[in-house]
Amino acid sequence: MSEDQAASLNRPRHIVLNSHPTGDQSPIELNWGAVNAADRGPVVTNLTGDGCHNAIGTHSGSYSIYRALAVAAGALDPSHRPDLTNTAPVAHIGPHPQWSDASRIVSMDPYGHLVVQCFQDQIDDGIDVRPSIAVTRARLSLPEVVHGRQQSLQTDGQVLLESGEINVTKIAIEPVWYLPGVAERFRIKESELRRILFEQTGGMFSDLVTRSDLKIFLPPIGGATLYIFGNPEYLTDNSRRLTCRVHDECNGSDVFGSDICTCRPYLVHGIEECVREAQNDGVGLVVYNRKEGRALGEVTKFLVYNARKRQDGGDRADAYFERTECVAGVQDVRFQELMPDVLNWLGISRIDRFISMSNMKYDAVTAQGIDIGQRVSLPDDLIPEDAQVEMEAKKAAGYYTPGEVPEIDDLAKTRGRHIEGY
Ligand SMILES: [Zn+2]
Repeated sequence: MSEDQAASLNRPRHIVLNSHPTGDQSPIELNWGAVNAADRGPVVTNLTGDGCHNAIGTHSGSYSIYRALAVAAGALDPSHRPDLTNTAPVAHIGPHPQWSDASRIVSMDPYGHLVVQCFQDQIDDGIDVRPSIAVTRARLSLPEVVHGRQQSLQTDGQVLLESGEINVTKIAIEPVWYLPGVAERFRIKESELRRILFEQTGGMFSDLVTRSDLKIFLPPIGGATLYIFGNPEYLTDNSRRLTCRVHDECNGSDVFGSDICTCRPYLVHGIEECVREAQNDGVGLVVYNRKEGRALGEVTKFLVYNARKRQDGGDRADAYFERTECVAGVQDVRFQELMPDVLNWLGISRIDRFISMSNMKYDAVTAQGIDIGQRVSLPDDLIPEDAQVEMEAKKAAGYYTPGEVPEIDDLAKTRGRHIEGY
């Protein structure tokens, strides 16, 4: 590309490398956990190379790479600033006391939906402050609910409409990590976390190891989407009941209805229970985390399916976790330590009904001082036959069940479909 072409794209012609410590301090102050937005300061990323930033990485999580492609293809002016007219949240969220505790929220910006309200002066000064959270409304149409194939719900005209559609408030959240806080959650040193993040991304973010003054990192990973059923203000009203499901992404089941796991049935069951709670003057919340295939990704997940179904003795519950570990080197990398941040952000201090059997999710939520009343398991009649392998293995591994925990000898008897059986 010629200099003229670069200039026409509003890109600097020289490359700014940050591979050596500069001793620079960011000109934009940021005090994570400060008592209010003005004292906290805006999160500002570095898309222009002008050094006027206080965070490593960029907005949009993994989609930042597509943004780069759009710039490279000449389809996007890199100097474009978002016009945020009419983009304000449709529901009032916070501030809550948890926002000013640097240890309670470490993986998202609690002011991420309020940047126009809180940081208009900085935006007017030309600083590129962008939202990392958006709050909107939606109407859901789920075949299981519309056609009433699962549990019958009565329409009420507000939460559940005559058409079978469900009214929700939905919130998209991008990851914004406060590195000292993330390190603390995992009980490791911040310097160690920075170094390993740098190394394991092929040296993608050199600022992680050269700019220890920059404490914020926007990692190139998926975020979370929240679905609120009923009045969002009830989330912090302890006189109202709260039903909550925390769900980790499983595209194959959630979207396509693949029958090897219980993800979509449990998600839909969670949504139905949330609707029911909202209809009883309480509120429901589904947290959908982009952590495909236990955060190992879909390729690893499908490799494991093959390994499970082709192993000696066929797909069986007693070897369920072992096969994942053989392929991935680890059983699970979802690490629920950061998950409760969204609950803290919403100001939640108790969950009356927790629609999850995961002991890891339960432990992570209660470790944050959030009380959990009842734990709700997936009804047996909603478990697909081929998913019995997963369900029995998880129960034996410590997942919550009100029923019997399977014995090791029984696990070997729970079999899935053979790879030739499709
Ligand atoms: Zn699944």
